[in-house]
Amino acid sequence: MKNRIGKIEVITGCMFSGKSEELLRRVRRARIAKQKIQVFKPLIDTRYSEVEIVSHDGEKTQGYPVKTAVEIMDKIDSDTDVVAIDEAQFFDDALVDVVNNIAGDGRRVIVAGLDMNFRGEPFGPMPNLMAIADEILKLHAICAICGEEATRTQRLIDGKPASYDDPIIVIGALEKYEARCRKHHYVLNKPDEQSK
Ligand SMILES: [Zn+2]
Repeated sequence: MKNRIGKIEVITGCMFSGKSEELLRRVRRARIAKQKIQVFKPLIDTRYSEVEIVSHDGEKTQGYPVKTAVEIMDKIDSDTDVVAIDEAQFFDDALVDVVNNIAGDGRRVIVAGLDMNFRGEPFGPMPNLMAIADEILKLHAICAICGEEATRTQRLIDGKPASYDDPIIVIGALEKYEARCRKHHYVLNKPDEQSK
């Protein structure tokens, strides 16, 4: 399709850094330019809604929920110019090839996702997506403790920093996330780097 070169743009950073807002801003501008856009998100993200992409400031757009990265490939219409993918960190590694193929067909791909999990480790396919991207925007939030620039996501369970090995869902516990700087990011029982 189209005699375009195609492009991969990655928007990344910690929670509350405005990734979804930036994704939606780019989608909105493409829409004004009368381009055909398709938005996808992993089925796992049911934070607000099954089909809508909602940023923390409440802006929303329709997003098509898919279970696997390969499913995105099957759902792209022949006349689509722009493919946007939100919460990309939850996809499998196949997303890297999928994104490469979509751009190879001359389309613009915009991917947004968390760069690190709550442990401060690279998250899912994001590191490889950043490697193949033409353009990367790394956003920051504000540390909930000191007000400096935050690059990490702090997981809190019943108000206390989560342990490295705490399960993804802790039954009966009140869980929340905060943006934190490097100094105020705590992961309890993190394995010693040297002992790896
Ligand atoms: Zn701080």
